[in-house]
Amino acid sequence: MSDYRVLLYYNYVDIEDPETFASEHLKACKELGLKGRILVAKEGMNGTCSGTVEQTQAYMDMMHAKPGFEDMVFKIDEADEHAFKKMHVRARPELVTLRLEDDIDPRETTGNYLSPKEFYEAMQDENTVVLDARNDYEYDLGHFRGAIRPEIETFRDLPNWVRENKDILEGKRVLTYCTGGIRCEKFSGWLVREGFEDVGQLHGGIATYGKDPEVQGQLWDGRMYVFDSRISVPINQKEHVIVARDYFDNEPCERYVNCADPSCNRQIICSEENEHKYLRGCSDSCRRSPRNMYVEEHGLTPEEVEERLAKLENETVAN
Ligand SMILES: [Zn+2]
Repeated sequence: MSDYRVLLYYNYVDIEDPETFASEHLKACKELGLKGRILVAKEGMNGTCSGTVEQTQAYMDMMHAKPGFEDMVFKIDEADEHAFKKMHVRARPELVTLRLEDDIDPRETTGNYLSPKEFYEAMQDENTVVLDARNDYEYDLGHFRGAIRPEIETFRDLPNWVRENKDILEGKRVLTYCTGGIRCEKFSGWLVREGFEDVGQLHGGIATYGKDPEVQGQLWDGRMYVFDSRISVPINQKEHVIVARDYFDNEPCERYVNCADPSCNRQIICSEENEHKYLRGCSDSCRRSPRNMYVEEHGLTPEEVEERLAKLENETVAN
């Protein structure tokens, strides 16, 4: 039995004074013993946190007793331990960074909510285009089969991408999905406002899709990236197709690490073997960085570093 749980949730609701709300909420979360990351804005709340079964239950009860939060949906994952190191609650100008000149209120304008079953069926219709509304590194680890990966680095570039690629979407049924659903609330609303007539969003996101007893995560390939220490979780209960590729040798791999040069910190998919071989550096300069954390963690002397890098160079020449 798992003793811990990880919660993922959001709620679009008016919060008059996000600063005060955040500081009071932080205090309450700390008293409960939770750890996690919660954002508070005038438009609502977006959070993920971990704790024991009792702690997370007390938190959900507390939130459901709060006016405006009675119906907040919690996605619950079983876990063996905390998924965060600290508890943060921060006030922000917006919950998801789209930075639209004219913001969207999903309570007024948003795409049709599709249940996992409806989404699963709609995906297989040939007049449907499925758009991944997440970042590229999330897509690379796992995504719905056939979904479009917009060539963007961050979520806020998505509207521009759509405007430049309108021909792909025009006349089609457009489906969007993201981790827990919060990004799609706004993004699908924006698509509706842009004039797309048939826009659907995966209600509850991939997190809910993977738990649906009937659909069982089918048509999802790879793993789902999550923003906590687990890094990724499985979704498809029927089959596991690896779509991610090792940054260095392009072999199937699902292991994310951060580049060992702290000033880079880029997330790369990389096997344990290649981590050692490349000193966890994404480039030659990251490998040679005097602050390379891999070198520090493994107590390598400058000679040993040189030796490994020379070996790498030889190999590249030989290839
Ligand atoms: Zn790097």
